[in-house]
Amino acid sequence: MRFIGKDQEKIKAAAKLHVQEVKKYIARSSEEKQKDIYRAVITLLADNSRENDFDKYKWLETFLLADVEKLREMKEREGIDRKYFVELYENWFSRRESSYNALFLVKALGLKVCPYCDRNYINVVYRDMDKAERRTDQLDHFFPKGKYPMLAMCFYNLIPVCASCNLLKRESEISMNPYEDGIEEQLYFDACFSASNSQSGWDEENVCLHMYYTPKMRNNVEVLALNREYELHKDTVYEILTKAAFYDKEKKEELCRNYPLLFPNLKSVKRILYGMDFQKSSNRPLQKLYQDILRVYEQEENGL
Ligand SMILES: [Zn+2]
Repeated sequence: MRFIGKDQEKIKAAAKLHVQEVKKYIARSSEEKQKDIYRAVITLLADNSRENDFDKYKWLETFLLADVEKLREMKEREGIDRKYFVELYENWFSRRESSYNALFLVKALGLKVCPYCDRNYINVVYRDMDKAERRTDQLDHFFPKGKYPMLAMCFYNLIPVCASCNLLKRESEISMNPYEDGIEEQLYFDACFSASNSQSGWDEENVCLHMYYTPKMRNNVEVLALNREYELHKDTVYEILTKAAFYDKEKKEELCRNYPLLFPNLKSVKRILYGMDFQKSSNRPLQKLYQDILRVYEQEENGL
């Protein structure tokens, strides 16, 4: 599971664009329809303060940008089954010919790795064959649009994910949303070579990979079969463990001393050894797996 920081400039710009475009679309409907939508939204928000006057459209922005906690609250309210926003999603937002659609949103978000599994790449690619941009992600409704049609266009309910996660999730609900703070601390990995097979040496067969998670994350792990999916990556774990055992602190420092241009610091050694890029908005999959396994070695090296 990968955290998507709401405060990143890209994410803030995507949220702004989303609100602007949905507002423009709704403003084109008849006043009667707009008032209907307004009433339904105000009921869900349970807030008819002066700031949420019909004319100001602030209500729409508050609704579309409701954070995950607020979405949880709204999904329990009466009126959540009204169809305005799911119709808007299906008749406009998911259509390729629309002036604003899922492709625009996914491009604006700029995510490169599936936030549900941290295993698969997602992106928008220009295809020469039809001279058009194509998405390799699928847009998941964190709170399924079949059950909660009113939340179908809420920004933090729209998560670009890989096909594998979307196929497993479908209309199921999972408990933690990638926009929630602290999500990455809800799950961690630990790996070693199995001691019982130590005679046969270090090979992929002897890799033990454990995934630990908090009760909050259980539902995500079970629905997305994350523990089973990660079994596929024992080959990568084998490589991490072997490199970590061989390149101890002394060897890494030696590389820095002997090749200062190639390895100006220990971070650059790690980058080349493990392909970790140390950026919050990393473009690489499996970063959490790498970080957790290597943390143990680093703590040992630092005498912690
Ligand atoms: Zn995924």
